Amino acid sequence: MKSGAYHIDLPDYRDQSAEVAAHLAEIRSRPVVMTVGGVGRVFESEERSVTALSDITFEVHQREFISVIGPSGCGKSTLIRIVAGLEEPTEGAVLLGGRPVTGPGADRGMVFQSYTLFPWLTVKKNVMFGPSMKRVPEEKAERSAQEWLRIVGLEKFANHYPNQLSGGMKQRVAIARALANEPRILLMDEPFGALDAQTRASMQSHLLRICESVDITVMFITHDLDEAIYLSDRVVVLGANPGRVIEIIDVPVPRPRTGDHFMSGPFLAMRRRLEELIHRCDGTDADEAAA
Ligand code: ADP
Ligand code: MG
Repeated sequence: MKSGAYHIDLPDYRDQSAEVAAHLAEIRSRPVVMTVGGVGRVFESEERSVTALSDITFEVHQREFISVIGPSGCGKSTLIRIVAGLEEPTEGAVLLGGRPVTGPGADRGMVFQSYTLFPWLTVKKNVMFGPSMKRVPEEKAERSAQEWLRIVGLEKFANHYPNQLSGGMKQRVAIARALANEPRILLMDEPFGALDAQTRASMQSHLLRICESVDITVMFITHDLDEAIYLSDRVVVLGANPGRVIEIIDVPVPRPRTGDHFMSGPFLAMRRRLEELIHRCDGTDADEAAA
């Protein structure tokens, strides 16, 4: 036992209840949707070269919720942009359903921190945008848009314009719009980062409920440790300079998740581990602390 200014007896973050272990084993038994294989990215300029990512490797299973956390500048956005096909790796590859990613595609939906809705279109037309581009018949696209708006709790706002909505509501429209394209995987880069704490908490709960009712795999970027634990099945922890995987951790908190879990032993144990890893960014130190 370590002594310190304060000490709370917490379980080991690697301890899993039978329920949690069974849930995680069930996820691992599902097909692999995405493989990130030895991905590296070097940015070259005239003066210097920056290794944003080095040898990033992990797999994501169908309907798994995986978060990637790490300090600012550790390559989180670069990684998700590579998965999205907006950026190319200088080493390794990302496979989706066994095929290498070579560019953007409708099999990946993206939600960014900044609102990316079309201000001149109604909420419903925003959600219908992707399907309409794919020439889905208008009526069908409209019915499906209504259904997605119901799922994100905005069916009453279908005919509003984005500037009539709060920040949280706009992000829910952005999620509905991404899901309306029926992607295989939803890529979210700090989607709630611009929201106030209360709206953010309510968005997290919305997202949990959406994932319970929709067959979607999620890769979620955040630097909020609580958010990562609350939402995820697993958390990939990146360190900086170069951006690399320090540890991939199974979240020991049972589902369905509620706000009550934030104060539970497994939650706090995982939070403490993430703090050790993020704040020291040094694998050896953190391992000693956990021992
Ligand atoms: P994060 O999202 O974790 O904050 P980023 O992926 O945005 O990190 O950036 C990782 C590193 O790569 C940073 O050092 C950043 O300056 C560098 N970087 C990102 N994009 C570019 C670019 N287009 N050109 C040069 N350097 C870049
Ligand atoms: Mg970023």
